Amino acid sequence: IRHLRLVLGDQLNPEHPWFQTPDPEVLIVMMEVRQETDYVLHHAQKIIAIFAGMRRLAQQLAARRHKVRYFKISECGNQHNIAANLQQLCQQYRIEKFSYQLPDEWRLDQQLQQIAADFEKEGIQTSADDSAHFLSARDDAQRLFSQRQRWLMETFYRQMRAKHQVLMDGNQPAGGQWNFDHDNREAWRGTPAEPPDRRPVHDHRVLWEEIQAAGVKSFGEPSAQRFRWPLDREEALQQLDFFIRGVLPHFGQFQDAMHSAAPRLFHSLLSFALNVKMLHPLEVVRAAEDAWQRGVVPIASAEGFIRQILGWREYVRGIYWAAMPDYAQQNALQHAQSLPSWFWNSQTGMRCLSQSIQASLQHAHAHHIQRLMVIGNFALLAGLDPQELHQWYLGIYIDAFEWVELPNTLGMSQFADGGLLATKPYVSTSAYIHKMSDYCKGCAYDRKQKTGEKACPFNAMYWDFFLRHREQFARNPRLGMIYPQLAKMKDEDKTALQLRAAWCRSNLDQL
Ligand code: FAD
Ligand code: SF4
Repeated sequence: IRHLRLVLGDQLNPEHPWFQTPDPEVLIVMMEVRQETDYVLHHAQKIIAIFAGMRRLAQQLAARRHKVRYFKISECGNQHNIAANLQQLCQQYRIEKFSYQLPDEWRLDQQLQQIAADFEKEGIQTSADDSAHFLSARDDAQRLFSQRQRWLMETFYRQMRAKHQVLMDGNQPAGGQWNFDHDNREAWRGTPAEPPDRRPVHDHRVLWEEIQAAGVKSFGEPSAQRFRWPLDREEALQQLDFFIRGVLPHFGQFQDAMHSAAPRLFHSLLSFALNVKMLHPLEVVRAAEDAWQRGVVPIASAEGFIRQILGWREYVRGIYWAAMPDYAQQNALQHAQSLPSWFWNSQTGMRCLSQSIQASLQHAHAHHIQRLMVIGNFALLAGLDPQELHQWYLGIYIDAFEWVELPNTLGMSQFADGGLLATKPYVSTSAYIHKMSDYCKGCAYDRKQKTGEKACPFNAMYWDFFLRHREQFARNPRLGMIYPQLAKMKDEDKTALQLRAAWCRSNLDQL
């Protein structure tokens, strides 16, 4: 063996060019290390899913005659640090070359560059290879926007549609429109029924015991006995197929809906498989486009879904690489309140939040509107510390890797980047949550009241937010009606709202 190739836990693509032909000179290295389990407190399912996926890929590669060195979390010789384990192998095998696939996180990018530089000093040749996963280069967004004032997702998305010829009619958008969002904002009232969960069930109890015995800390329900995240590309492809055939037709229409009896609604649950690279984004996009071309999916659904992957997913990655490492520290609104304790146990009287957080703790998943317009909305109105919140989002969701989680949390949801990503803050009163969900029915708070003990906290906190941040938002053209409405409000009404908001913000644990 002369050549070490490192595969990270979110690089589980068995079709990567590295794996085309086995080479007896090459040792593929994979490792379950405390460095990766401990950089943030993770949901139990996230740790299980990544380790189970890594173990499966290692087995598949070994079966295809690749040489694989796999460090289990329980192994005595495991030093639980990528650099230390690699160093050990280099000495053991007198390695002449070290390669890695470009990582997606800043932290790992820095570490691997350092490891490579150290190896080079020892005379070992190194290379950083493409992970062959994304549809844009790390710096595409930066180059596109260098001459522009606003980093609009729409600009990026249209350019991606044209570049990859997705939903295009020559150089015009298919169906005559780039965006069908107006058809996509319906609440769900029970029909059509939520599709069944067809994902295979795995028993990961042995792995979970091994993780616990190694002392790894976590939170959330492990669900090790009935585990439902895909183990490999094969399972991810089946999930994609089921989604395209039975679920996508309704995706667009109910994209923003939420319901207490239907946690998945018409979402794909493909983010984990995409982010650990079991699926390639273009095959997912093409599958949706193809379903539209065959006439089985309306264009509004196909476009709405494709926009998320070809648009948002690639765009937030572009922002991440353009703005890191400073991005992670941004706090434009100077919010500093700690997270209330119910973020960890869902015990709050606010039903929208208890439902969304409970789903997150149970499934390591919540869909976009729960993340943005319930949890994120509340966090922004309450003035929660964006860095602390970022750690929470990074830990709890099965699909959370910093390159995609950080811009979504800090930028889109918390406006902590001062509006680079979002053109306006995503906040609302109870009116939006009531319109899009059934949460307000049976809530301990009254959605119609603005002040008083029983008043929905979103209502007063919403107006208080705009009063507190007048400087930042008064001239924002996308918030047209807010400040004129506040100007018309009587002073005593404003004071009552501010008092109620102040009480809520200083008694978050009691809400
Ligand atoms: P679907 O609704 O079926 O969407 C299809 C796919 O589109 C997703 O699988 C995902 O790959 C992509 N997508 C959709 N929205 C976004 C988006 N805003 N940014 C990037 N990709 C998107 N997504 C993550 O993958 N990892 C995260 O850590 C993450 N953190 C988030 C934090 C906040 C505060 C918010 C508001 C959103 C976050 N998202 C994140 C985006 C989105 O909520 C999830 O991708 C989605 O809920 C995953 O479920 P799904 O696969 O069923 O998605
Ligand atoms: Fe949420 Fe307010 Fe509705 Fe209760 S009343 S579910 S807190 S929006």
